[in-house]
Amino acid sequence: MVIPRLIERKRDGGALAEAEWRELVQAYTAGRVPDYQMAALLMAVVFRGLEPPELDALTEAMLASGDRFRFDGWTTPRVDKHATGGVGDKTSLILAPLLAACGVAVPTMSGRGLGHTGGTLDKLEAIPGFRTRLTLREAEAQVRAIGCVMLGQSDEIAPADRKLYALRDVTGTVESVPLISASIMSKKLAEGLSGLVLDVKTGSGAFLPEPGRALELARTMIGLGVARGCPTVALLTAMDRPLGHACGNALEVEEALLLLHGEGPPDLRELTLALGVEMLRLAEPTVPAVDARRRLEDALGSGRALERFARLVEAQGGNPAIADDPGALPQAAEVELYEAPADGFVARVEPRTIGRAIVALGGGRNRVEDEVDPAVGFVITVKPGHEVRRGEPLASVFARDEAGAAEGLAALGEAIVISEAPPPATALISHRVTALGVEAVG
Ligand code: URA
Repeated sequence: MVIPRLIERKRDGGALAEAEWRELVQAYTAGRVPDYQMAALLMAVVFRGLEPPELDALTEAMLASGDRFRFDGWTTPRVDKHATGGVGDKTSLILAPLLAACGVAVPTMSGRGLGHTGGTLDKLEAIPGFRTRLTLREAEAQVRAIGCVMLGQSDEIAPADRKLYALRDVTGTVESVPLISASIMSKKLAEGLSGLVLDVKTGSGAFLPEPGRALELARTMIGLGVARGCPTVALLTAMDRPLGHACGNALEVEEALLLLHGEGPPDLRELTLALGVEMLRLAEPTVPAVDARRRLEDALGSGRALERFARLVEAQGGNPAIADDPGALPQAAEVELYEAPADGFVARVEPRTIGRAIVALGGGRNRVEDEVDPAVGFVITVKPGHEVRRGEPLASVFARDEAGAAEGLAALGEAIVISEAPPPATALISHRVTALGVEAVG
């Protein structure tokens, strides 16, 4: 295998053979291919794409680079949900205990914040003591014992993705349908699932904002899942505004707890239930959607999902008391209210601006080694379309100090746009995509 010839072939629109992808991924993971050659090849893929057999071969090679969850002889159905990156999206924190409370196991592996988007792992680590580094065998034992686990990616699962992802993050090669698909699916397929639900974000705050590209991403990942015996369903959902009210690690854990107490913002509840229905129906395909929804609502309303959350936190070394006392979560030193600068309608709440402002406040990373401040962020109580009056409180900023609070208020001024007329409404969930086709939902 002569790497420069492979790069040239891809650059000129040709295809690599299955064996070439396999050898290349093995050699790169083992450190025998330098980053500069891999980066050149990835950039060629961004421009030229991958033929379906190449995408299959790349995904297989990434999956084969590590170990997998093993649940041999265990008949409990196992499902997971993966979102393609958003702001204020804390549904994973709710869905794992919620589905476990309904008798469906959720072995979930999550990532850290990336660019302007938040990561489930950073949110979990806002819980004092919570351990996200578990071995695969520890994680399997926990899933069998309490029905769910939430761990970080380690070198055990898809190490090729870990290395490739870090390279893509710094070489402008994230935004590619085949590369995102292979990256996500190589990790999810290692979880030993009986079904997978994808929350593919669209709109200005998504990695691939254009709905056509989001649909292409959904279809590509569904194809990879279904071909490997993992039924996969996707919902295309709005990321042209943050989800829920809270944006920032500890604030999002607190809002997830509100939902687990049967409260919380309506959009967060709606999306959580819609994703939960899909997960439950992948686990138990004969259950009608209305019954699935009723079971989930019952698990939320009865406190069973909350109780499962407390068990999850305790099993992973955190303080389970936070389930009833969010005051035990890290608290910001400075809190400031942001008021409407004029009468009118909220035209936009720009998620990219909010996500970047969280990073600037210290709640995300500019470099891999940066420490995250879990307490900082925003609570934004208005959505596009809301009518507001000058001076009315629209949001709060949570910061480390006065300078951070001032910076946060400036970011809110930029992100929340007020106009004279209401904006056109966008559906929270626009499409449901399966291997059989696409249905409009909203
Ligand atoms: N999330 C992933 O895991 N991989 C990508 O490439 C993009 C988002």
